[in-house]
Amino acid sequence: MSEQKKPLIDEEGLRTDGRKIDEFRPITITLGYLRHADGSVLYQQGKCKIIAAVFGPSEVHPKHIELPDRAILRVRYHMAPFSVEERKSPAPSRREIELSMVIRNSLEPVIMTELFPRTVIDIFIEVLQADGGTRVAGLTAATLALADAGIPMRGLVAGCATGKVEGKVVVDLNDIEDKEGEADMPVAYIPTLNKISLLQMDGIMTRDEFKEALSMGINSCMKIYQMQVSALKSKYGQVEAQAKEEE
Ligand code: ADP
Repeated sequence: MSEQKKPLIDEEGLRTDGRKIDEFRPITITLGYLRHADGSVLYQQGKCKIIAAVFGPSEVHPKHIELPDRAILRVRYHMAPFSVEERKSPAPSRREIELSMVIRNSLEPVIMTELFPRTVIDIFIEVLQADGGTRVAGLTAATLALADAGIPMRGLVAGCATGKVEGKVVVDLNDIEDKEGEADMPVAYIPTLNKISLLQMDGIMTRDEFKEALSMGINSCMKIYQMQVSALKSKYGQVEAQAKEEE
Protein backbone atom coordinates (compact mmCIF):
# COMPACT_ATOMS: atom_id res chain seq x y z
CA MET A 1 0.00 0.00 0.00
CA SER A 2 1.41 3.44 -0.89
CA GLU A 3 1.95 5.82 1.99
CA GLN A 4 -0.69 8.60 2.17
CA LYS A 5 0.87 12.07 2.08
CA LYS A 6 -0.12 14.34 5.00
CA PRO A 7 -2.24 17.26 3.71
CA LEU A 8 -0.74 20.74 4.06
CA ILE A 9 -4.15 22.01 5.23
CA ASP A 10 -6.46 19.63 7.12
CA GLU A 11 -10.32 19.49 7.15
CA GLU A 12 -10.39 22.00 9.99
CA GLY A 13 -8.39 24.48 7.92
CA LEU A 14 -5.24 24.06 10.03
CA ARG A 15 -1.74 23.87 8.57
CA THR A 16 1.05 21.35 9.31
CA ASP A 17 2.21 23.43 12.28
CA GLY A 18 -1.33 24.03 13.58
CA ARG A 19 -1.66 27.58 12.24
CA LYS A 20 -4.73 29.10 10.59
CA ILE A 21 -4.31 30.34 7.01
CA ASP A 22 -3.93 34.01 8.04
CA GLU A 23 -1.67 33.37 11.03
CA PHE A 24 2.06 34.06 10.99
CA ARG A 25 4.54 32.13 13.13
CA PRO A 26 5.41 33.34 16.65
CA ILE A 27 8.03 36.10 16.57
CA THR A 28 10.69 36.95 19.17
CA ILE A 29 12.98 39.93 18.91
CA THR A 30 16.19 40.22 20.96
CA LEU A 31 17.81 43.59 20.30
CA GLY A 32 21.50 44.25 20.99
CA TYR A 33 22.24 40.52 20.72
CA LEU A 34 25.89 40.96 19.71
CA ARG A 35 28.53 42.79 21.68
CA HIS A 36 30.79 43.93 18.86
CA ALA A 37 28.28 45.28 16.31
CA ASP A 38 26.93 48.86 16.37
CA GLY A 39 23.41 47.43 16.17
CA SER A 40 22.17 43.85 16.21
CA VAL A 41 19.23 41.54 16.73
CA LEU A 42 18.37 37.88 17.06
CA TYR A 43 15.09 37.49 15.17
CA GLN A 44 13.08 34.30 15.45
CA GLN A 45 9.99 33.55 13.43
CA GLY A 46 8.83 30.03 14.14
CA LYS A 47 11.82 27.81 13.38
CA CYS A 48 13.67 30.54 11.44
CA LYS A 49 16.55 31.98 13.45
CA ILE A 50 18.35 34.97 12.02
CA ILE A 51 21.01 37.34 13.30
CA ALA A 52 21.35 40.79 11.78
CA ALA A 53 24.32 43.02 12.56
CA VAL A 54 25.03 46.59 11.47
CA PHE A 55 28.33 48.48 11.39
CA GLY A 56 28.78 52.14 10.56
CA PRO A 57 28.46 54.66 9.12
CA SER A 58 32.22 54.24 8.72
CA GLU A 59 35.05 55.19 6.39
CA VAL A 60 34.95 53.53 2.97
CA HIS A 61 37.71 51.21 1.77
CA PRO A 62 38.67 51.27 -1.05
CA LYS A 63 38.18 55.05 -1.19
CA HIS A 64 37.26 55.23 -4.89
CA ILE A 65 33.88 53.51 -4.26
CA GLU A 66 32.66 56.20 -1.82
CA LEU A 67 29.79 58.46 -2.92
CA PRO A 68 30.06 62.25 -2.51
CA ASP A 69 26.38 62.78 -1.59
CA ARG A 70 25.41 59.72 0.44
CA ALA A 71 26.45 56.59 2.30
CA ILE A 72 26.90 53.29 0.46
CA LEU A 73 24.75 50.43 1.73
CA ARG A 74 26.46 47.04 1.73
CA VAL A 75 24.24 44.05 2.49
CA ARG A 76 25.33 40.47 2.89
CA TYR A 77 22.59 37.84 3.26
CA HIS A 78 24.15 34.49 4.11
CA MET A 79 22.83 31.09 5.15
CA ALA A 80 25.05 29.19 7.58
CA PRO A 81 26.08 25.69 6.37
CA PHE A 82 24.09 24.19 9.27
CA SER A 83 20.94 26.28 8.63
CA VAL A 84 19.31 23.69 6.36
CA GLU A 85 18.80 19.93 6.53
CA GLU A 86 21.61 19.08 4.12
CA ARG A 87 24.77 21.00 4.91
CA LYS A 88 25.05 23.87 2.46
CA SER A 89 28.30 25.20 1.02
CA PRO A 90 29.57 28.18 3.04
CA ALA A 91 30.55 29.97 -0.20
CA PRO A 92 28.02 32.62 -1.31
CA SER A 93 25.61 31.11 -3.83
CA ARG A 94 23.91 32.97 -6.70
CA ARG A 95 20.70 32.92 -4.61
CA GLU A 96 22.46 34.62 -1.67
CA ILE A 97 24.05 37.25 -3.92
CA GLU A 98 20.65 38.00 -5.46
CA LEU A 99 18.88 38.12 -2.08
CA SER A 100 21.55 40.48 -0.72
CA MET A 101 20.71 42.86 -3.57
CA VAL A 102 16.94 42.45 -3.17
CA ILE A 103 17.20 43.23 0.57
CA ARG A 104 19.49 46.20 -0.08
CA ASN A 105 17.00 47.64 -2.57
CA SER A 106 14.16 47.17 -0.08
CA LEU A 107 16.04 48.98 2.71
CA GLU A 108 17.25 51.87 0.59
CA PRO A 109 14.01 53.94 0.66
CA VAL A 110 14.05 54.21 4.47
CA ILE A 111 17.71 54.82 5.30
CA MET A 112 18.73 58.50 5.34
CA THR A 113 22.00 57.82 3.51
CA GLU A 114 22.19 61.49 2.47
CA LEU A 115 23.14 62.37 6.06
CA PHE A 116 26.38 60.38 5.82
CA PRO A 117 28.20 61.17 2.56
CA ARG A 118 31.47 59.32 1.84
CA THR A 119 30.72 56.55 4.34
CA VAL A 120 29.51 52.97 4.27
CA ILE A 121 26.83 51.20 6.29
CA ASP A 122 27.41 47.44 6.46
CA ILE A 123 24.48 45.12 7.09
CA PHE A 124 25.07 41.42 7.73
CA ILE A 125 22.20 38.94 7.75
CA GLU A 126 23.16 35.51 8.96
CA VAL A 127 20.53 32.78 8.73
CA LEU A 128 21.28 30.31 11.52
CA GLN A 129 18.23 28.14 10.86
CA ALA A 130 16.01 28.35 7.80
CA ASP A 131 12.39 27.27 7.51
CA GLY A 132 10.95 29.32 4.64
CA GLY A 133 10.57 33.08 4.33
CA THR A 134 14.14 33.96 5.27
CA ARG A 135 14.49 36.92 2.88
CA VAL A 136 11.57 38.78 4.48
CA ALA A 137 12.54 37.73 8.01
CA GLY A 138 16.12 38.84 7.21
CA LEU A 139 14.81 42.18 5.96
CA THR A 140 12.68 42.71 9.08
CA ALA A 141 15.71 41.80 11.21
CA ALA A 142 18.07 44.11 9.29
CA THR A 143 15.68 47.02 9.86
CA LEU A 144 15.70 46.32 13.60
CA ALA A 145 19.51 46.12 13.66
CA LEU A 146 19.71 49.46 11.80
CA ALA A 147 17.39 51.07 14.36
CA ASP A 148 19.44 49.48 17.15
CA ALA A 149 22.57 51.06 15.61
CA GLY A 150 20.84 54.46 15.72
CA ILE A 151 20.84 54.93 11.94
CA PRO A 152 18.25 57.63 11.05
CA MET A 153 15.38 56.17 9.04
CA ARG A 154 12.14 57.37 7.45
CA GLY A 155 10.33 54.35 8.83
CA LEU A 156 10.72 50.65 9.44
CA VAL A 157 10.48 47.89 6.82
CA ALA A 158 8.41 44.88 7.89
CA GLY A 159 8.26 41.77 5.76
CA CYS A 160 6.14 38.63 5.57
CA ALA A 161 5.59 36.07 2.81
CA THR A 162 2.18 35.07 1.50
CA GLY A 163 1.29 32.47 -1.08
CA LYS A 164 -1.01 29.67 -2.09
CA VAL A 165 -1.14 26.24 -0.55
CA GLU A 166 -3.64 23.55 -1.60
CA GLY A 167 -5.78 26.15 -3.35
CA LYS A 168 -5.89 28.52 -0.36
CA VAL A 169 -4.15 31.86 0.13
CA VAL A 170 -2.00 31.67 3.29
CA VAL A 171 0.53 33.88 5.08
CA ASP A 172 4.08 33.16 6.21
CA LEU A 173 4.80 29.87 4.42
CA ASN A 174 7.17 27.47 6.17
CA ASP A 175 9.70 25.39 4.25
CA ILE A 176 7.36 22.51 3.33
CA GLU A 177 4.59 24.93 2.27
CA ASP A 178 7.12 26.88 0.21
CA LYS A 179 8.33 23.72 -1.53
CA GLU A 180 5.03 21.87 -1.97
CA GLY A 181 2.61 24.80 -2.26
CA GLU A 182 1.48 26.42 -5.51
CA ALA A 183 2.92 29.91 -4.96
CA ASP A 184 5.17 31.91 -2.66
CA MET A 185 4.97 35.71 -2.59
CA PRO A 186 7.28 37.64 -0.26
CA VAL A 187 5.99 41.11 0.62
CA ALA A 188 7.64 43.97 2.53
CA TYR A 189 5.86 47.15 3.52
CA ILE A 190 6.87 50.52 4.98
CA PRO A 191 3.84 51.74 6.99
CA THR A 192 5.14 55.31 7.55
CA LEU A 193 5.58 55.84 3.79
CA ASN A 194 2.66 53.63 2.75
CA LYS A 195 5.01 51.92 0.30
CA ILE A 196 5.65 48.34 -0.71
CA SER A 197 9.42 47.90 -0.80
CA LEU A 198 9.57 44.26 -1.87
CA LEU A 199 7.18 42.15 -3.91
CA GLN A 200 8.22 38.93 -5.59
CA MET A 201 6.34 35.84 -6.69
CA ASP A 202 7.31 32.28 -7.43
CA GLY A 203 4.39 30.20 -8.74
CA ILE A 204 0.96 30.96 -10.15
CA MET A 205 -2.07 32.70 -8.63
CA THR A 206 -5.20 34.16 -10.21
CA ARG A 207 -5.70 37.93 -10.17
CA ASP A 208 -8.16 37.63 -7.24
CA GLU A 209 -5.83 35.36 -5.31
CA PHE A 210 -3.00 37.82 -5.88
CA LYS A 211 -5.15 40.67 -4.50
CA GLU A 212 -6.12 38.59 -1.47
CA ALA A 213 -2.49 37.53 -0.89
CA LEU A 214 -1.24 41.11 -1.14
CA SER A 215 -3.83 42.37 1.32
CA MET A 216 -3.09 39.50 3.76
CA GLY A 217 0.63 40.20 3.35
CA ILE A 218 0.30 43.91 4.10
CA ASN A 219 -1.92 43.09 7.07
CA SER A 220 0.73 40.78 8.51
CA CYS A 221 3.47 43.35 7.81
CA MET A 222 1.44 45.91 9.81
CA LYS A 223 1.27 43.52 12.78
CA ILE A 224 4.99 42.73 12.49
CA TYR A 225 5.71 46.48 12.30
CA GLN A 226 3.86 46.96 15.59
CA MET A 227 6.06 44.25 17.12
CA GLN A 228 9.18 46.00 15.81
CA VAL A 229 8.04 49.30 17.33
CA SER A 230 7.19 47.75 20.67
CA ALA A 231 10.56 45.89 20.86
CA LEU A 232 12.42 49.15 20.11
CA LYS A 233 10.28 51.09 22.58
CA SER A 234 10.81 48.56 25.33
CA LYS A 235 14.62 48.69 24.92
CA TYR A 236 15.02 52.40 24.32
CA GLY A 237 12.16 53.45 26.60
CA GLN A 238 14.13 51.87 29.45
CA VAL A 239 17.36 53.60 28.38
CA GLU A 240 15.52 56.94 28.27
CA ALA A 241 13.96 56.39 31.70
CA GLN A 242 17.37 55.46 33.13
CA ALA A 243 18.98 58.56 31.63
CA LYS A 244 16.23 60.74 33.16
CA GLU A 245 16.77 59.11 36.57
CA GLU A 246 20.49 59.81 36.36
CA GLU A 247 19.95 63.50 35.47
P1 ADP B 1 13.06 32.34 1.34
O1 ADP B 1 13.86 31.77 2.47
O2 ADP B 1 13.09 33.83 1.31
O3 ADP B 1 11.65 31.80 1.31
P2 ADP B 1 13.57 30.65 -0.96
O4 ADP B 1 12.16 30.66 -1.46
O5 ADP B 1 14.68 30.67 -1.96
O6 ADP B 1 13.80 31.92 0.00
O7 ADP B 1 13.81 29.41 -0.01
C1 ADP B 1 12.77 28.83 0.71
C2 ADP B 1 13.33 27.93 1.77
O8 ADP B 1 14.04 26.87 1.15
C3 ADP B 1 14.35 28.57 2.70
O9 ADP B 1 13.77 29.36 3.71
C4 ADP B 1 15.02 27.35 3.25
O10 ADP B 1 14.22 26.76 4.28
C5 ADP B 1 15.06 26.44 2.04
N1 ADP B 1 16.36 26.54 1.34
C6 ADP B 1 16.88 27.59 0.69
N2 ADP B 1 18.11 27.32 0.22
C7 ADP B 1 18.38 26.07 0.58
C8 ADP B 1 19.50 25.18 0.40
N3 ADP B 1 20.61 25.56 -0.23
N4 ADP B 1 19.40 23.94 0.92
C9 ADP B 1 18.29 23.54 1.56
N5 ADP B 1 17.21 24.31 1.79
C10 ADP B 1 17.25 25.55 1.30
